[in-house]
Amino acid sequence: MTFSKLSEYLQKLEKTASRNEITQILAGLFKDASSGEIDKICYLVLGRVAPQYTGIEFNFAEKMMIRAIGYAYKKEIETVTEKFKNIGDLGDVAEKFAEQSKFKSKTSVSEVYDLLRKVAAEGGEKSQERKLTLIAELLSEVDPLSARYIARIPVGKLRLGFSDVSMMDALSVMEVGDKSARKKIEAAYNVFVDIGKIAQRIKKEGLTGVEKVDAEPGVPIRPSLAERLPSAEKIVEKMDGRFAVEPKLDGFRVQLHVWGSSDKREVKIFSRNLENVTHMYPDLVDAASKLHVKSGIFDGEAIGYNSKTGKFVPFQETVQRKRKYGIEEMAKSIPLKVFVFDSLFLNGKTLLTVPFRERRELMEKELGGEKGDIVLAQHHIVTEADKLRELFNNCIKDGLEGIVAKKLDAPYRAGGRGYHWVKFKKTTEGKITDTIDCVLMGAYRGRGKRAQFGLGAFLIGVPGKGEKYYSISRLGTGLSDEQFRQMYKEVEKLKVEDKPNTYEVDKEAEPDVWVRPQLVLEILADEISLSPRHTAGRDKSRGYSLRFPRLIRVRDDKNPDQATSVGEIAKLYKIQKG
Ligand code: AMP
Repeated sequence: MTFSKLSEYLQKLEKTASRNEITQILAGLFKDASSGEIDKICYLVLGRVAPQYTGIEFNFAEKMMIRAIGYAYKKEIETVTEKFKNIGDLGDVAEKFAEQSKFKSKTSVSEVYDLLRKVAAEGGEKSQERKLTLIAELLSEVDPLSARYIARIPVGKLRLGFSDVSMMDALSVMEVGDKSARKKIEAAYNVFVDIGKIAQRIKKEGLTGVEKVDAEPGVPIRPSLAERLPSAEKIVEKMDGRFAVEPKLDGFRVQLHVWGSSDKREVKIFSRNLENVTHMYPDLVDAASKLHVKSGIFDGEAIGYNSKTGKFVPFQETVQRKRKYGIEEMAKSIPLKVFVFDSLFLNGKTLLTVPFRERRELMEKELGGEKGDIVLAQHHIVTEADKLRELFNNCIKDGLEGIVAKKLDAPYRAGGRGYHWVKFKKTTEGKITDTIDCVLMGAYRGRGKRAQFGLGAFLIGVPGKGEKYYSISRLGTGLSDEQFRQMYKEVEKLKVEDKPNTYEVDKEAEPDVWVRPQLVLEILADEISLSPRHTAGRDKSRGYSLRFPRLIRVRDDKNPDQATSVGEIAKLYKIQKG
C-alpha cells in the first residue's frame, strides 16, 4: 500500500467521531493491507512505530519539526513558525507548503515506516540533526496529504481518538464481517499486547492463528484485576469453599520477565499499565537475574523498605522510586522488595490456564527458597469468615492496606476484573469502602481563595460504554494548595481547544478548560449519590455523582481506560446501599 492511500484512510478517520464508522473504516484499511505491512499500519495509525510496551518513542520536539518543514520546502524558520502560529497544527502547515507539488507519491507504507523507525532509533551525539534530515527528506518526497500525517506522527499529534480496543473490533469485522470475533481476539491480546503482531497472525492464518497466541517472556501480559465486596461473609459466600488470603501491600505492581541462559540473562520489568520500566529499577533487574529459575513471568507488588529496620515505608515514599533521574541514589535510600503473588510462565511453560492452586505450588517450589529482594508473597488457606477477619485485622495492624482473597481453581484472568480475586480494604463506618480512580476532564476558572491558581475546581469522570468518559463530579474543596499547584501544571500540559469527542458532559457541568483524557486521579469520597448533573450511569434523569470528593494522589501508573468504570461505580453504589 502506498502511504498516500493510508493517508486517505487517516483523513477519513480524522473526520469522524462515530465509533461505528471508525471501526468500519479501520476494517476496510485492514482488508486493503497485506500481511507484510498490516503490523506497521497498526502502529502508524496509533502514531507509533512499535507497541507502547517497547518504550520506543520519537523524542521529536515541535521546534524540530518546524525546522524539518523549513528544510524540506526551502522556507525560512520564521515563515514556518508564523504559519504554525496562524494554523496551529504542524501537519496542516506541512500540507500547505507541500501543495506546490500536486503529485501522488508512490512511497510505500513500509518505506515511510522504516524511515520513521530509524528516526525513533537514532540516539546519541548529533542524533537530533540526523532525525531532522531524515524527516525533511521524507517530507520533500511526498504529496500534501501524506505530508500532513508524516509531520504529525513524530511530534505525537496524530490523535485519532481510538485505541487498541477499536482496532480489535475492526480486525473482527475484517475477518468475519461483524464484531463477534472480538472476544477471541481480545483473549489473545490480553496475553500478548502487540496489536500489530496479532493483526498479522489473523491476516496470515485467520482466527485459528490467534488461538495459538501464548505468553512469551519479554512481551507483557495484561494484569488480572480484583473485584470488591463489602464484608468477610460476602467474600466467603462468593469464594465457595477453600480459598486463599494474601496481604494487600500498598506499593506498585510489577510484572517481572526473566529468560535467557545464565551468561546472557534477560530481564524486563513492566508497570501495571504495561510500560517498560526496566531502566528505573537496576536493583530489581539484578535481583531478578539471580532468581533460581530458567525463565518466568511473575506478577507482584514492589514496596519500599527501610534497610535498617526492615519496615515497609509509606506509599508516598515507595513511589519516589519511579523516576527518570537519580535512579541509583534513590535505589540506595529506598530499597525495594517485590512480593511475587502469581506466576504466568515458568521454566519455558505458560501457566495462564493452570489453576491458581497449582501455580502457587510451582511458585513455592521454585521461589520458596529465595532470600533476596524478590520473595514469595504470604498466602493462607481459609474457609471461614472469622479466619479471614483475623488475617485482615493482622494486616491492618501491620500497616497494610487489607487483603486479597483468591479462588484456588481459577486460571490467571489476564486483563480481567472478576470475583476470582476480591480485595477487601480498611473501611470507615458508613462510608464507601474504597477509593475511586477518576479521569481529569477539565477545569473551572477560579474564584475567591483559589483564584491565585487561575483555577477553582476540576471536572472528573469515569470510563463507560462506547469507549467514552462520563462526568461524575466536580473536585474543588478537597485539594490542598500544593495539590492545586500540581493540578494547575497538569491542566496546562493537557489542555485542548475543544471538548474531546469521547466526553459525555452536560451543558451545565461544562468546564472552562477542557483537557484530553490522560490523567488518572485517585479520589476518596464520602458517598456515591445520584444527581441530574452528571452523566455517569445516567438513565433518563439521574447519574452517579461523588459526595465530598478528595484527591488522594495522582495515579500515573494507570491509563485513563483503566480508571474505575461506570459498571464498577454501579457495583459500589449497590454495596453502599447494602
Ligand atoms: P486493583 O488493581 O484495583 O484490582 O487492586 C489490586 C491491586 O492490589 C493490584 O493491582 C496490586 O497492585 C495490589 N496487590 C497487593 N498485594 C496483592 C496480592 N497479594 N495479590 C494481588 N494484588 C495485590
